[in-house]
Amino acid sequence: MSVGSYQRRNDVMLPSDALEIRRFKDTDPRRPIAEALLPFYVEPAADEALVSWLGRLASRFGLSPHQFAWQAFGVDNRGPAQWWLRPSPLSLKRISEVTGVPVDHLDRMTLNTWSPSYRGDEADGGFWEIRYRNPPPQRWTRYVAVCTACLREDVIPYLRLAWFIGWVAVCPRHEVALVSRCPSCNSKLRSATYGSASPRPPHQCATCGSSVLTAKMCHAHASVMKLHAALLRGKRLGATDLAGLGRLSWPDTVALADVLMGTFWTALHTRERRDVFQRMVRNRRTEDERGSGAYGGQYHGLDLLAWLLEGWPWSAGPQVAISLLFRWSRASRSRNPGSLPLTRSERWAVGPHRLDAKSQSCLRTLLNRAILPPPNDTEPVP
Ligand SMILES: [Zn+2]
Ligand SMILES: [Zn+2]
Repeated sequence: MSVGSYQRRNDVMLPSDALEIRRFKDTDPRRPIAEALLPFYVEPAADEALVSWLGRLASRFGLSPHQFAWQAFGVDNRGPAQWWLRPSPLSLKRISEVTGVPVDHLDRMTLNTWSPSYRGDEADGGFWEIRYRNPPPQRWTRYVAVCTACLREDVIPYLRLAWFIGWVAVCPRHEVALVSRCPSCNSKLRSATYGSASPRPPHQCATCGSSVLTAKMCHAHASVMKLHAALLRGKRLGATDLAGLGRLSWPDTVALADVLMGTFWTALHTRERRDVFQRMVRNRRTEDERGSGAYGGQYHGLDLLAWLLEGWPWSAGPQVAISLLFRWSRASRSRNPGSLPLTRSERWAVGPHRLDAKSQSCLRTLLNRAILPPPNDTEPVP
């Protein structure tokens, strides 16, 4: 969908003057809100993230998205970080009233109808090493991974909603890995600066100012595309359908990924991990792209997970996955992602952050089904 904008009227004034502030009488008297429809209309794209559109709109008024959300809609930015991923119905109603964009369209620009975050599944880095080995960050910064082919095609470049989910690593349209680091300075790409009034196009690195469009485009493996599509559907609708594994709820899917990848990163020796990677590369007859800088960690996470699950339970990857599940089933420690906000001792303790009983039971059933011999149809019934 094309993205465009037009000006409703040509008043001679500073753009920010257009926000006529009045007191919001019916609820909180401290909350200001714009009195009428804004003089500019900026059309959101169908798959655009709310924060991306807010940034484009705010720049028309010479304001930061932070100031703009407060002055135009009375959205209290002191609330939960990244409120724009799951805004309240009242915030959406106010935004709709002032911008003229229907509430249902605004809602589709958020994760409101998607599965809630489970075990921090939306966190930056996806299902890769950092999630299982690093302590949780002190301050959350919203990083983003982008498809440079999509941004090149945009009339006005914008950030897609799915790019804000940590494990989203490929573009379904161009079948390439998303770029998560600047090709010039190697900094992680950050989303539009929420507190800055200077608009920055989404393809410009916030650290060095270079364009990320020069990044090497890497074709995504077919098995990664397949797993990515299943996960995206699962995150949207609440359940994944994976060949050989059947239907899993979204929490059980995250638990499976966490147990496989958590056991891989925290229970295996370096030598064992190297052997698994070598098997994967031999099995797929591809080059080992790890460490090339072309892919971000989240791509490697999906790449390994796809190999571990594809052709369940008899292929080479699932045989490794079954041995990881078996190790987990015999371990006394819980496998929690390092990125969960837990202390070092909590991370390994049995407690509320351990996998819940339902997910544990689901994973044990998968394991038992995979290691039991297939039923012998020729055996006589007693
Ligand atoms: Zn793309
Ligand atoms: Zn840079």
